[in-house]
Amino acid sequence: MDENGASLRTLMDDAKLTDERGRLAALNRANILDTPPEEPFERITSLLKSVLGVPMTAITLLDADRQWMKSRCGLDADHTARDISFCTHTIEGRDPFVVPDASRDPRFAANPLVTDAPRIAAYAGVPLETVDGYNLGALCAIDTKPREFAAHELDLLKSFARLVIGEIQLRQIADRDHLTGAFCRRAALEEMERAVARHARHGTPAALIMFDIDHFKSINDRYGHPGGDSALRAVSARIAAMLRPDDVLGRLGGEEFAILLNGTGLDDATVAAERFRAALAAMIVPNDPPLRLTASFGIAVLGPDIADVDAWLAAADGALYAAKNSGRNRCRTAHSGGRDDAAAA
Ligand code: GH3
Ligand code: MG
Ligand code: MG
Repeated sequence: MDENGASLRTLMDDAKLTDERGRLAALNRANILDTPPEEPFERITSLLKSVLGVPMTAITLLDADRQWMKSRCGLDADHTARDISFCTHTIEGRDPFVVPDASRDPRFAANPLVTDAPRIAAYAGVPLETVDGYNLGALCAIDTKPREFAAHELDLLKSFARLVIGEIQLRQIADRDHLTGAFCRRAALEEMERAVARHARHGTPAALIMFDIDHFKSINDRYGHPGGDSALRAVSARIAAMLRPDDVLGRLGGEEFAILLNGTGLDDATVAAERFRAALAAMIVPNDPPLRLTASFGIAVLGPDIADVDAWLAAADGALYAAKNSGRNRCRTAHSGGRDDAAAA
């Protein structure tokens, strides 16, 4: 890359540092918040603790208003408010953030994490930067006595931070369907679980749109299995390009997909499903010869009648079945006074 290109990249990267919405979307894509402890992360915090000789280490992720620890050594709480966290300072830059003596630092002297447990006296943190330039959180080492961190110790911290990011990326790859890049069934269902929990706790709306390609067997028959596969990839890419950062596209199996629209109620979901349907019907899939296809859509939103993910899937599937039965290449909802449900029965 030439000099101008390099400086342009630096400028773009720095814009990522202030793009909080994009950062939160990247954190959401990483699909890691509130997940149970996992061995690779535990090993990293434990190794870092002994290598640096500190009493506390943590891998923390900065959510909108809290820091949540994927792994921690020597720390009791698994989260704190974001505004008092040291790591929220770390993710503002690209370099290690070091506080050798918090009680003498006007930014932290009155901080409750300094004046009370865990009594942070010294802190060194390195941002956890994704390949696309977002700082998801930090890997940090904490001491209860003031101390300096030598250059080679900060280099160690940086190397460990790269390991953490590598593990986060591996988890992400495991969540993806190899053929299409959409979420695999398991990961898509986990996203739906979270949407159900958010709805139960905060009343956050969410819509599930299931779709199944029409007469896909005849595409396989005509173009062979590889031709069918490339149609599946084209469908997935077309839909993915229309989604917002909080939305999730999953491949539930075969040529059946699910779109989870977080924060979306029935009216908006109905409009969105119709846009998806029209986009697929208008698409020309490159093949020999090029082909066209359609899909049928079933919509279900969270509400009092949907207690869990199974019920949600069943409602969307019933609506999808109704769409197939009433001629294909159309959308049906599970919430139209029973008419569509009757058609599905
Ligand atoms: P309908 O309109 O009723 O949905 O008809 P359909 O032909 O699409 O019927 P169905 O959904 O039952 O057919 C699914 C077909 O998808 C059958 C299976 O061979 C094919 N299929 C499943 N997974 C894959 C895959 O990974 N690649 C390819 N090429 N085909 C697949
Ligand atoms: Mg089908
Ligand atoms: Mg099918």
